[in-house]
Amino acid sequence: MAAQANASRVWIGLDDTDNPDSGCTTATFDDLLKYISHIDGFEIIERRLVRLWPFAERRTRGNGALACLISCSKESIPNLEKLLSNFFDELVLDLNVEMNDMTSPALLYSYEELNEDLYWEAVRQKVNLNVRRNSLDSVKILSLDSDWGLIGASSAMAWKSIESSTWELIAWRFSDNIGSQREVTSSVVKKMESLFPDTFVNRDPTADKGLIAPRTPCPVLYGIRGATSQAVLSAHEWLQSNQDTEKCERYAIHRTNQLSDDHILGYSSATVLTKPVETKGAHSSLDVFSHGRKITLVAFKEGGDVNRLLRRLIPGDRINWLGLESPDGSIHLERLKVESSLPRIIGRPICCNDKTMRSAGSNQPLRCLSCQKIVEKHWLFEDISLTGIELVDGWAEPTASQRRHLSKPLLLGSPIKFANKVV
Ligand SMILES: [Zn+2]
Repeated sequence: MAAQANASRVWIGLDDTDNPDSGCTTATFDDLLKYISHIDGFEIIERRLVRLWPFAERRTRGNGALACLISCSKESIPNLEKLLSNFFDELVLDLNVEMNDMTSPALLYSYEELNEDLYWEAVRQKVNLNVRRNSLDSVKILSLDSDWGLIGASSAMAWKSIESSTWELIAWRFSDNIGSQREVTSSVVKKMESLFPDTFVNRDPTADKGLIAPRTPCPVLYGIRGATSQAVLSAHEWLQSNQDTEKCERYAIHRTNQLSDDHILGYSSATVLTKPVETKGAHSSLDVFSHGRKITLVAFKEGGDVNRLLRRLIPGDRINWLGLESPDGSIHLERLKVESSLPRIIGRPICCNDKTMRSAGSNQPLRCLSCQKIVEKHWLFEDISLTGIELVDGWAEPTASQRRHLSKPLLLGSPIKFANKVV
C-alpha cells in the first residue's frame, strides 16, 4: 500500500454542459476521465451520477450531475490541475457558450470531502446560486460568469453513497450513429430483464415499452439500472452480445442516488377536507389536513393511478401520501394510499321519494316523514371503490415511464420505510 501513502484523493464534479440539441454531460465527463487516466498513479474510486431537485429552475432533463472520487499520486497534482484547466477551456469553446445561454458549465475539484448537507439541500429544495458559490471555499471552481453548473457539480461531489445506493451503466454510441434511431428493441430489453433480475426500471410493463434507451439525439445508447455493479455489467455484456442490438463505443458504471426517494421530505397521513377539483389537462387537486395545517395535494395526468385514486376521495377520508413541495407550496404527489380501516359515512338511510330519514332528536329513532316508517338510528357506510387501480400494499404510484429517476418503485420496498430514512 506504499502507493496510497503517496496518493491524494480528489473529488471532481461537472454539470450544465449539455444543450437540448446535442451533447450529454455523461459523455463529456467520460472524455475527461479518459484524459485523466493517463496521469501516473491514477485510480477511479467511484463514479457518480446524481439526480437533484426536480423543480430546480435551471435544470436539464432528469436534472442529473456527474462527479467522481479519484486517487492520484501527489507528484501528479500539478499535471492534473493543468489538464482540468485545459479541458474546461476547450469545453467552453466546443459548447460555444457565449452564443448559447442554455449552458453554463462548471468543473469543480476539491482535495477535501464536501459537507453532505450541500447534497441534501440540492435534492430537496431550491439552491441560491450566490449562497452556494460562497460556501465552496475549499473547492477549486472552473467556470464562466454564468456558473449555474456549480450547484449540480458540488452537490454530486457532496453526495455519499450508501450500501443500498443503486448503479447505472451508461453505454455511449459511435459518433456516426448519433442522431439515428437506436437499435435496442423492446423484446430484447424484456429478455434482459428476465435474465438479470437485479436490474430494474428497464421497461414499462403497462406500455410494454423499453425504458433504457433515450429518445433524444444525445450520445447515450442506453442506461441500465440495477442493484449491483455486477448486475448492470452482466446485463450490458449480454445486450452487446445480442446480434440485433446496436454496438456501443464505450461504457462506464456509475453509483447513483436514483430510486433513493431522497427528494421526498417524509411520509404523512392526512384527512381529506375538500372534494377533488379536476383541472384542464386532467390534473386534480384537493385540500387535506396534515401536519397540523391545510395542505393542497396535486396529482397530474402522468401520475396515472395516483391521479385516479385522488379523484375518488371525499371529505373525511383518511389517506397516506408521499410527495414533494412545489415552488407554489402545493404538494405534488408521488404515491398515495387510502386507509381502508375506516368506512365512509355516506348519510342516513333513504325512504320514499328519495327523502332521507330523520331523527327527531337524541335517543329518537329515524322516521320517514312520508310513510311514517320507523327504524333504529344508524348511518349508511360504503367502501371506496378501488377497481381499475393497481395497488401495492394499498399504495398507488405512477407507471414506470412516468416515475422520477429519484423515486423508489413500490415493488422494491415500502415507501414509508424509505421516506423515513432521513427526515
Ligand atoms: Zn317512507
